[in-house]
Amino acid sequence: MDTSICWICQKGLALTGEHMVKKSDLKRVFGRERPKKPLHLRRGKLTQEVADYEDRILTFETKICGDCNGTQTQKHDNAWMVLSKAFGDRTSLKPGDKIKLVDVFRNDTREQMILVQLYFVKVLGCAMRDAGFKVDLQTFSDAIKNGIYHPHVYLSFGVVDESNLPKLAGGMAASNGEWGGYIYAADPITVSVVARSFGDEVFDAWNPRYIGDEICIQAF
Ligand SMILES: [Zn+2]
Repeated sequence: MDTSICWICQKGLALTGEHMVKKSDLKRVFGRERPKKPLHLRRGKLTQEVADYEDRILTFETKICGDCNGTQTQKHDNAWMVLSKAFGDRTSLKPGDKIKLVDVFRNDTREQMILVQLYFVKVLGCAMRDAGFKVDLQTFSDAIKNGIYHPHVYLSFGVVDESNLPKLAGGMAASNGEWGGYIYAADPITVSVVARSFGDEVFDAWNPRYIGDEICIQAF
């Protein structure tokens, strides 16, 4: 696996790191300009102090090229930023709550939700490579490059009962060869991203081929 070339376009030099959790989400959870309290990153047994939101330890080790990280996927990032803010703006978020998508993306709901999925396709791809999981990322790359949703990547949106825990943002990857997944947490929302290699449906999860006008918050 050549890690010096961007896995998305397979052309550009892989020089820039995608944040494991988007910088706008970190700011939303921990404080706008800088973390209000010292921020720590836990990776397995290792705990590191985070200098600021630009700290390289907050990015995936798998790099992508500047063009794919910027111009090519900016729309995807922005769509997630808008949806994430809508979760964060709510005074409370609990299982069973319904988020009306037309309230978030007024005119182009479906198009924007495809962009949200493509954001998570990028994140999942980086996470899979970081974790060394052997997931074929060609279909991920095609979806991102062509701006067409991935038919086998599913999203679920939920909340974790963590009333006694400090504020949290982070990610965790898992795979068993047939599927790959990433848990993306940015209080109050947690997104489960799952890719099925054989096209089996994922129960209770969302893919852009389903037409839907609301997100139902699950209990994780
Ligand atoms: Zn690239």
